[in-house]
Amino acid sequence: MSGAPASALAADIDARLPQTQCTRCGYAGCAPYAAAIAAGEAEIDRCPPGGAATIAALAQLLGRAPLPLNPACGTEGPPRIAVIDEARCIGCAKCLAPCPVDAIVGAPKHLHAVLEARCTGCELCLPPCPVDCIEMRPAPPAQRNDPELNRARHAAHRIRAARYAEERAREIAAKKALAGRAGGGVMSGGASR
Ligand code: SF4
Ligand code: SF4
Ligand code: SF4
Repeated sequence: MSGAPASALAADIDARLPQTQCTRCGYAGCAPYAAAIAAGEAEIDRCPPGGAATIAALAQLLGRAPLPLNPACGTEGPPRIAVIDEARCIGCAKCLAPCPVDAIVGAPKHLHAVLEARCTGCELCLPPCPVDCIEMRPAPPAQRNDPELNRARHAAHRIRAARYAEERAREIAAKKALAGRAGGGVMSGGASR
């Protein structure tokens, strides 16, 4: 193995991963898996989207022999994309937040659609859909996975998600404060009678 510091090594490993963030490796995304490999806690055989090519690239980087893909993580296959059946979509928006590259568009109570060219086929939008109206289909022949674009889109997604969480927390705190003041008003009103 290289003598590079763990964080630099993790970045080198991460640079060789497909960045779909699908979690099939058993980690919360490509970067956590890269960190686990760098720390010696995970093997290089756990990324189905990358398949044999990614394993070969990792083996070369780390000076190890390639391994077969670990079947417990899934199988390698042709790229697929998610497609929403608009006739069945109820516009609940539950598929929006899980998409790591913001490939789904739509507003609450309106139809949602997948931006085909953005979709990495990670399948993370499938489980949250309450009416099972998302299905995976073969990606258009010209569509290629672009790890750098995926990485940039995922970074933007995380920033947006963090901002949204902060705004929600502020809203909830403001509502609680308002409810507390209203409750206090009733009590003090009651005590003055
Ligand atoms: S693309 Fe590979 S490394 Fe990234 S989350 Fe999916 S399985 Fe893990
Ligand atoms: S639309 Fe679904 S399958 Fe496509 S990238 Fe987003 S979460 Fe993954
Ligand atoms: S989770 Fe399913 S029903 Fe809800 S908006 Fe997404 S596709 Fe439509």
